[in-house]
Amino acid sequence: MIRCKVCGGVFAQPAEEKSSFVDGGGRRVRERALCCPLCGERDLERAVPCPLCQGWMGSGDLLCPHCRRDLRFRFCGFLEELTTEEREALDQLVEGQSLTDDFTGEESRTWSAV
Ligand SMILES: [Zn+2]
Ligand SMILES: [Zn+2]
Repeated sequence: MIRCKVCGGVFAQPAEEKSSFVDGGGRRVRERALCCPLCGERDLERAVPCPLCQGWMGSGDLLCPHCRRDLRFRFCGFLEELTTEEREALDQLVEGQSLTDDFTGEESRTWSAV
């Protein structure tokens, strides 16, 4: 499947856009480009199923737009439950680190300092 990066539409076959123009030397150049059948944009990518909901997403993405929105919503809800001190501690905890790092690992990590 193919996914349009512009409108988020997913389809099996992209549309083909034929155009022609005259180049600097006066020759007619024919051009064929693949484009989105829904919005006509050419910014296409391969679509793969989302690991959580099986919805379509770009092959470079970890989650589909729907699940990303859901994750952000849940994360914001989680942050709202924290006290100011907890938020500051969390700031310190993740500073410069990926959330997928193992915080509980080495002694030298920020985790042990909190
Ligand atoms: Zn599109
Ligand atoms: Zn999803």
